[in-house]
Order: sequence, then C-alpha cells, then structure tokens
Amino acid sequence: MDAEPSTTTAGSNSQLPRRIVICGGGVIGVCTAYFLASKGSDRVSVTVVERSSIACAASGKAGGFLALDWCDGTPVADLARASFLLHRSLSDLLDGPRAYGYRPLSALSLPLSPSDSTESRSLALPSWIDGSAVSQSRTIGTPETTAQVHPQLFTRTVLSSATAEYGVEVVFGEVQNVEVEGTGVRLRDGRILPADVVVIALGPWSSRLQIISDLFHVSGLKAHSIVLRPPEPAVISPHALFLSYQPTPGGKILDPEVYPRPTGEVYICGPTEEATPPDNPEDIAGEPESIALLHQIAGTVSSHLKASVAETVAEQACFLPCADDKLPVIGKIPGSKNCYVATGHTCWGILNAPATGAALAELILEGRSTIVNLDPFSPARFLR
Ligand SMILES: Cc1cc2nc3c(=O)[nH]c(=O)nc-3n(C[C@H](O)[C@H](O)[C@H](O)COP(=O)(O)OP(=O)(O)OC[C@H]3O[C@@H](n4cnc5c(N)ncnc54)[C@H](O)[C@@H]3O)c2cc1C
Repeated sequence: MDAEPSTTTAGSNSQLPRRIVICGGGVIGVCTAYFLASKGSDRVSVTVVERSSIACAASGKAGGFLALDWCDGTPVADLARASFLLHRSLSDLLDGPRAYGYRPLSALSLPLSPSDSTESRSLALPSWIDGSAVSQSRTIGTPETTAQVHPQLFTRTVLSSATAEYGVEVVFGEVQNVEVEGTGVRLRDGRILPADVVVIALGPWSSRLQIISDLFHVSGLKAHSIVLRPPEPAVISPHALFLSYQPTPGGKILDPEVYPRPTGEVYICGPTEEATPPDNPEDIAGEPESIALLHQIAGTVSSHLKASVAETVAEQACFLPCADDKLPVIGKIPGSKNCYVATGHTCWGILNAPATGAALAELILEGRSTIVNLDPFSPARFLR
C-alpha cells in the first residue's frame, strides 16, 4: 500500500455526512457499506438498497479468484495489491469458521485437448486432472500470490458483519432515481430514502440511472458458469486452472477457468460475449449451448467432473460491468453535490472490492483516499 495519496477530494471532517445510501447489494456496494460504517462508526448511518437479493448477480456467480500481482503494469495494479492484502486481513476477522472459504491456492496454465488421451500427461500435475497435452502446464500463481473466496458467501458475510457490528441497514426495493443534489433516493414503489450522500454501485445496471448515463456508459459482458460436486471432493486439490481449449480442430481457442472450492464444489466458467442485461437480475438465463460446452470442458479436464459422475449444483450466467475504457469508475460524480459511483470492475470485482470500499469510505468521510490513489478511476475523466 505504497500508493500516493489521492488528491481527489470531497467532503471534510467538519461536515460529516450523516445518512449514506448505497445503491446495489453486490460486492462493491457491500464492501463500501462495510468500510463506511466501520470507519464512520456511530457518526454515520449507512443503508444498502438492493432490488433482488444480496449478491444475486455477478457478485454471487463469479469465480472468486484473487491475485496479488496479475494487474501489475496496468492502472489497476495498486488497487489490486491493496485489495489482495485487505482480503487476507478480512479473512482473519470474518472468515472463521470457514464462513466464505478464503484460502491461498496455486494456479496452473494448462493447454487442454478435447481428446482424453493421457499419453503426454505430466507426472507433476495434480492426480485429478486428465487430458492430453497437459505436459505443457505452467505454474502461474502460488499460495503467496493467489487465493480464492466463495464470492456469494464473502459478500453476504461482509454484509452480515456490517449489519451486526456497525448497524448497516438493508432495504429491498428498486432504485428508480437519485436526486442530483444527493438529497435522496427514490424507489420504484414510491418510497424515498433521504440521504446526505448517495453511492451508486449497480454493476452493469449503473447507467440505467440518468445521473450516470449523462456521463458514461456501463456495458455488460455475459459469461456462463457451472458448479459441480464431484463424488470424492477430497481428491480435488486446491489448484485453479486457466485452460486454453480448442473444442474443434482449427476452431476458436477458448480460455475457460476451473476453481475447486473448499466446500467440495468445483466452479467452471467460460467465454464472454457482449449482451444487454435484463432489467431484473433474476431473469438472467444461461444459453443451453454455453452450459453444454462447460460440461464438456469439465469432463475433459477430469473424469471426476464428467456429467455422468458429478452432481450439477448450478448452471448460470451473469454480467461483468465494463466502462468504455475498461477501467473501474470510483469517485464523486462531477456536478453533483454528494453523489459517488463505484462500478466497472470487469473481471476483477471480487478481488478489488475491499480496496474500492475502503478508499471510497476515506474519500467520503475524510475528503481523500490514502489507501489507493483514486485519480485514475475518477468519473471526471469522462468529461474530457
Ligand atoms: C463468470 C464470472 C466470473 C468472475 N470471476 C471473478 C473472479 O474470479 N475474481 C474477481 O475478482 N472477479 C470476478 N468476476 C467479476 C466480478 O464478479 C464483478 O466485477 C463484480 O461482481 C461486480 O460487482 P458489482 O457489485 O459492481 O455488481 P453486481 O454484482 O452486478 O451487483 C449489482 C447489484 O445491483 C443490484 N441492482 C441493479 N439494479 C438495481 C436497482 N435499480 N435498484 C436496486 N438494486 C439494483 C443488482 O440486483 C445487483 O445485486 C467474475 C465475473 C463473472 C461474470
């Protein structure tokens, strides 16, 4: 956490916001609520508004993979490094006994062929991995630099702690509109939640609010995933697999990912495609062909994951939130009195949620972020 302090300012200690409303009960909204309430303690009241259920969208359907240094060399490097360390300290505070399955693990890069020949199998590979061409595997993460959480359990555990320890409230309802002056949040059912500060963290739905769409667009990249329970979970070692897989000779090479979880389940996700999220996150449906492809990949990776052997726990899809420049958008909305946004975390939202929440809490309560320089993520960049 050697980032330069942010010079982006808002608010001051002498004018502490009293009522803070956070729109969106995904990992970004929940981590922001946790750090705001824990930092502000009895000085502020924090409410999370969610239209469906906590972590019902990408935050509940993600892989939950965390990496210390995989964003190095990009503008997200410091955010990722700070977040990786915060995940470690949060797990000491919140993850016992195994509330959300935080654990360090290794990561392997693995070319995989659809044929199930084992002639070139590397003896160094974990025993549950089958398939040909696996001798070209590479270790790309070690327990010092890579880890995982169960994203839905993580998000819900953080929120439970925020409600139990710091009095965060949860309101279920659909946000229809945010007053530009930051005076309140109007819900579709007519309720108005008064607010001195509003934080918009609606993931790929963020630009459905005019205050966001006037400034920038958040698109959704749709991705499918399946969760399997193999009959003998104990044989599946803690190795995340980053595959390159060509379903048909000469066809497109895909890069699916496989994450064994301490729950005994194995999560597998596949390629992404541009699509528009339905209004209601509960209406997101997976395409049968994409789900079938993931089962095919699972069965090729390991005989323990074949459809005939493993129980299917989930077949699902969700949307990665992406701003036009593919960078997170974190900070005060220019022209608004007290309205902030935190979105656009693409494929690293579970990793980057803690430092996003901690930095935004500092910005709102103290006028500047010291944990991470938020300047590269300022929404003001879209004014240029
Ligand atoms: C297949 C897949 C795998 C992934 N794997 C990883 C990974 O391994 N590691 C990692 O770091 N990241 C991963 N990600 C990325 C990560 O899941 C996202 O970046 C992150 O979940 C985004 O969180 P969010 O809170 O911004 O959005 P969301 O999780 O989409 O939450 C937005 C919330 O807002 C609510 N909402 C929407 N509209 C309204 C409204 N009008 N009123 C009230 N509430 C509303 C929704 O119901 C939802 O709960 C993955 C993503 C996908 C799709």
